[in-house]
This record gives sequence, structure tokens and C-alpha cells, in this order.
Amino acid sequence: MPRKKPNPHHRAARLALAALVPLALGIAGWQWLLGHPEHNPWAPLNLNDPPGWATRAKLARLKGDVSECRAVLERSEVAFTPLAPTGEGPCARPDRTRLGDYPLAPDTPPVTCPVAAALEIWRRDSVAPAARRIMGGEIRRIEHLGAYSCRRMYGDSEGPWSEHATANAIDIAAFVLEDGTRISVLRDWDGDGPKARFLRAVREGACGSFATVLSPDYNAAHADHFHLDQDERWAGVCR
Ligand SMILES: [Zn+2]
Repeated sequence: MPRKKPNPHHRAARLALAALVPLALGIAGWQWLLGHPEHNPWAPLNLNDPPGWATRAKLARLKGDVSECRAVLERSEVAFTPLAPTGEGPCARPDRTRLGDYPLAPDTPPVTCPVAAALEIWRRDSVAPAARRIMGGEIRRIEHLGAYSCRRMYGDSEGPWSEHATANAIDIAAFVLEDGTRISVLRDWDGDGPKARFLRAVREGACGSFATVLSPDYNAAHADHFHLDQDERWAGVCR
């Protein structure tokens, strides 16, 4: 029996459908991205958008582009003061950005703009919600051990320079709630009580906006603080 000859009209319709389906999916996907700028790598970063798939990559791109990073802070209505560049060589600091409304103590040190942006996201999306959920209170203070220090890693006399040499890092030691409760990395990291769970939650949360997060789990040098930086060399270390 001779095979039935395929109807050329059917074939054309199938081809048209094969071309239209991806096109329709593409348009739908693009429209969805326009409504979800946090997942859209081409949308200008606004820190008030919820965290999304593209957030960390966009934060990473801000490194080295001081004016674009500060434009993001302005667009996101984050208060900050741009300070004049200082230093030279490996400790040159072309980007000194001081947050204007952040509960750091004993002071608010200038950091790089990408660190400032990540601190804002971390406080809003991780630290404040974890304080409410786990500790039942609001954050009054976030105690730090410093941001800028012109030195090599671990204070060695040779080897790579620390991200602290340009204040592209900050060390966080403790959190104080409105009622005075103090949660210290050194004293409260171990165990499974609320303070330890809070510290683990905010350590995990920091990995969403910082390139590198080192905690007591990393090594003994970090027993009393979280090291948070925006160094792309080891991006993804979160321990
Ligand atoms: Zn550090």
C-alpha cells in the first residue's frame, strides 16, 4: 500500500507552530523578567527589590565601579556619605563610603560601596527578620571589630593583601537587641539555643549578599567574629 503523502499545509503549520512556541515563551519570559527585576540581570539594581537570582551577580559587578555603586545606593534611598580617596599602593582606597543610618558600633567605619550595599541587604533581609523570628526583638546595635587595616592576610609579612587593606571587608563580633540582650559570636556560637540559631541564620544570610563569609566554622582565627567581604577571588566561600 502506498504511503500517504504528507499534506504540505500541515507541514507548514507544524513549522510555524515550532517557531511560534519558543517566540511566545520568550515573550512571556521577558515580560515575567520585567515584573521581577530581582531575577533580571539587565534591570538596574535596586536594593529595595526582594533578593533574587541576579542580586549577587549584580552586587559583584559593582566592584570597581564606584559611581555606579553609589547610584544604586541613591536609587535605593540608602543614606550614605562619600568620602575622599586616601592611601596608596595596596592600601589605596578610591572608594570610601560611610553608611548614614546603620546600627554599627562603636562607630560606622567607611567601607567600599559594595560592602555598604551588602550590609544594607543583610540587615534588612537576614539580621532583622532573624532577630524577630528567633529572638523576638529588634536589633539596636551591630558591633564590629573594624573594616580598614593596611595589612596582608592574617597580618603576615608576605603573601596576599587582606581585603581589609582597602576596607572591602568588615568583621562583625556581636548583635545587641533593643532589650539589651547581647549575642556574641565568641560566646554564643556553640550549642543549639536561640542565640546560636540566630548566629547561624545571619551567617547563612550574609552569604546572599557578600562574596566571602568566614565564621567560627572556618577556622580558629574567626572564633570571635564573622569576616564579611566582597573579594571576588574566593567568591562563594561561606563557612
Ligand atoms: Zn576580617
